[in-house]
Amino acid sequence: MKFDAPQFQTETEARKYIEALRWPSGRACPKCGSIGTEYETKREGRYRCGAKECRKDFTTITGTVMEASHIKLTVWLMAFYLMASSKKGMSAHQLHRTLDVTYKTAWFLAHRIRAAMRSGGLVGPLGGAGKVVEADETYYGKVENPLTTRTDGRAFTKGGVGTANKRAIVALVERGGSVRTFHVAEANRETVEKIVRENVHPDSRLHTERKPPLSARWQRVRRARNRQAHRWRVRTRRRSQQQRRSLLWRVQEGHARRLSALRRKAPAPLS
Ligand SMILES: [Zn+2]
Repeated sequence: MKFDAPQFQTETEARKYIEALRWPSGRACPKCGSIGTEYETKREGRYRCGAKECRKDFTTITGTVMEASHIKLTVWLMAFYLMASSKKGMSAHQLHRTLDVTYKTAWFLAHRIRAAMRSGGLVGPLGGAGKVVEADETYYGKVENPLTTRTDGRAFTKGGVGTANKRAIVALVERGGSVRTFHVAEANRETVEKIVRENVHPDSRLHTERKPPLSARWQRVRRARNRQAHRWRVRTRRRSQQQRRSLLWRVQEGHARRLSALRRKAPAPLS
């Protein structure tokens, strides 16, 4: 690992490096936003806002994930580098060994940096005017508290089939763009709508997958094969599939309604 760049050597160099990244056009007060009014205090790297009503002290880590920690800036920078450059992410344990810090410190670093890297929050919404975002939902992995019996009370006979006991994932895909996935406790209308509202630009078109229904012939074959199982399926699994499908449709319709209302309200462009 290459850590011979100056910002990994001394605290002063690290601070200068972060300041240049954070304040490319003058130091901005994180409280009131005034730029270039600050003056230096006796402590290195600590500035005081010069705005009359503000006078807040701040440093380069105020209002960032590094705030309120006693970890050296050089260690933060190395941790950022490691977490951002390793393809599969890095565990707190790996950080602990690589950076030669306590596990407790490594755990803290990993959590803060993951929080900063998580999609949403700092990054903008998906899509935009004329762009298409697709919403899809899938089931993967295992839930924390798996059911041991089916909803009708009988024990499971096969494992790993269907959506039972798998974690619900909602995926948003911008056509030709990026993907965001969200684990949800339950894919109901509120959670899906919240995700769409917070992550999809209101001007984009929202698409949801529509699966073609089973052909009548295949339905007859299946019915004949196991009337009992079919009846159970109709009553439970397919009903819940339909509910999920219509859930995404409803979310999509709601989005389309909001979009057209937005367009109606938008002022006419200046010629
Ligand atoms: Zn200020």
